[in-house]
Parts: sequence; C-alpha cells; structure tokens
Amino acid sequence: MIHEIIPVGPLQCNCSIVGDEQSREAIVIDPGDDIEQVMAIVRRHNLTVKQIAVTHAHIDHVGGAMKLKNLTGAPVLLNQKDSMLLKMLPVQAAWIGVAPPGSVKIDEPLRDADKLRAGSHEATVIHTPGHTQGSVCLYFEAEKTLVAGDTLFAGSIGRTDLPGGDYKQILTSLHDRVLALPDETLVVPGHGPNTTIGEERQSNPFLQK
Ligand SMILES: [Zn+2]
Repeated sequence: MIHEIIPVGPLQCNCSIVGDEQSREAIVIDPGDDIEQVMAIVRRHNLTVKQIAVTHAHIDHVGGAMKLKNLTGAPVLLNQKDSMLLKMLPVQAAWIGVAPPGSVKIDEPLRDADKLRAGSHEATVIHTPGHTQGSVCLYFEAEKTLVAGDTLFAGSIGRTDLPGGDYKQILTSLHDRVLALPDETLVVPGHGPNTTIGEERQSNPFLQK
C-alpha cells in the first residue's frame, strides 16, 4: 500500500494519500489545505483519486476538500452528524484567521462499518464521536493502520471544548472502539507524529484507568 502523509495548512493537519500499487486507485484523507502539494504526490505515484474521505468537519481537515474534488472529480465522504460544523465553516475560518473555503457538500455519508476502497486496500469506518459528533477513524485492518483524525494523538486525545465536543463521549469511543484494536496497529493521528495502539494503551495519560 502506498501511504504518504503530509502536514497541510497553518495547523499542520496530517493529510493521507493512500493508494494501491496495482490499480493506482487512491483515497485522500483529510485534505485540509495545500492541495497543490497533495496533487503533486498523487501525480508522482500516478494515482487516480476515487474518494475524498474527511475524518471530521473541522476546517483544518476539510478546507481543501472541494478544491480537490474539482481537480479529481472524486466524491467527498463525511459523517452526516458533522453537517452543523460544515455550516459553521466561515466561523471556523475566523477562529484560525484563514479565508473561508466556501461551502462543502457531502456527496456520500461515512457511517459506522462502511467500507472504503483504494484498489485492493480496504478501510472500515469506525464512528468515534466526542471530538465532534461526526468524527470517524479509518481502519485498514490488513495493513494494521488506523487513520485516527483528531480522536487520538501520540500522548494526547482530541479536544472537546469546541461545538459538538463531549469529553465523556470521546473517552467511551477511545476505550470501546479504538483500544479494541490490536497493540501493533500503527496510528496516524490528525496532527503530530505517528504512534501505535500499544504505546497509547500503555502511556497515554488520558487513557489510564
Ligand atoms: Zn478537529
């Protein structure tokens, strides 16, 4: 599996480009900004973007989605429970001092247990509300990789003080769904360095009983 990760935009959101070596089909996850750089990676690997998946509707993750859609024709996938946050994109833009990206339309919902495919590589959607109501993680089981959005970070967890955030709920999502995954699972968080489920289970201060 081709898996390129680039931090994009002023908040350095980790954008993942996941591709299949045979079919050259790809999913782009969280194209928050810097779409020219994302497209340069897509072209370097000779990939065709089939889906644009967004882990949640915060502007640093979704801000470039429509631009990428216009360039590739790929549908934008996002959990419907973040629709309210999409309507707030101009407000979100003001929070971080960037230009509003225009309106974002959900082409296909991302629901719990839905499957995404980049050629032969498959990800299962895990709905993990708490950071936002529509937050999801994408689990590539065969490749032992979890793209976690802002639900889990190396040594920390997603903030819950923004609209739609719920601290008890994110802990439930983490304990019941995320920590249910095997220790060796590579975690690609929405920001910052990669980690593993085992490392976070052992040392993340928010996840200790
Ligand atoms: Zn976020």
